[in-house]
Amino acid sequence: MSIADRPEHDPAHCREMFAHLSEYLDRELDETACREIEQHLRHCDACRACCATLARTVALCRGMPAHAVPETMSTRLREAIEKLRSGDGTVSGAGPD
Ligand SMILES: [Zn+2]
Repeated sequence: MSIADRPEHDPAHCREMFAHLSEYLDRELDETACREIEQHLRHCDACRACCATLARTVALCRGMPAHAVPETMSTRLREAIEKLRSGDGTVSGAGPD
């Protein structure tokens, strides 16, 4: 990357980026807008860091649906533990207690 292809840094442009960053991450922008953002990210550390943070947040949110998993999991877990405790007989070396 050479300095020659670095566009003049423009805070207003950054603000514009921020406004569209979540749309960008959701792939809701058209190709031209996407490319514009990607190009800006390549040159702008601040926006790149922000984008990375946002992307991680979005990924986390998607990976964890608000209420889906935990209850079933803990119920199953408790059942499994209870089975072990009550000495069903068949399980051995179930791991650390
Ligand atoms: Zn920027």
